[in-house]
Amino acid sequence: MNKKEMFDQVSNMEEQIGQLYQQLGDLKVHIKELLKENHRITIENHHLRQRLDQEVKTTEQVNRDKSGQSSLIGEGYDNLARLYDEGFHICNVHFGSPRQDEDCLFCLQFLNKK
Ligand SMILES: [Zn+2]
Repeated sequence: MNKKEMFDQVSNMEEQIGQLYQQLGDLKVHIKELLKENHRITIENHHLRQRLDQEVKTTEQVNRDKSGQSSLIGEGYDNLARLYDEGFHICNVHFGSPRQDEDCLFCLQFLNKK
């Protein structure tokens, strides 16, 4: 390798290092933005969770105030859902009869309505 070739190679490396340095800078900016966004989303998520918790509590309270027996309604629904899972109709069309391993649209509609 002569002096000219060596010089060219070093210049070449210098250029590549310069480009890498530039890319590193760009990446750093990008990472900073991502961290900022992550922080913002974390806070937003925290607020949304609080909001959701409140919403659920309020809904439960309203249900309790409205009927005084929301747990009983929930229990009745659970019983019907279990009955359906065990293979019986819970719809008013075929109530109590075996489903023979087929889904019943009336039953499903009934379950979704509740
Ligand atoms: Zn049915």
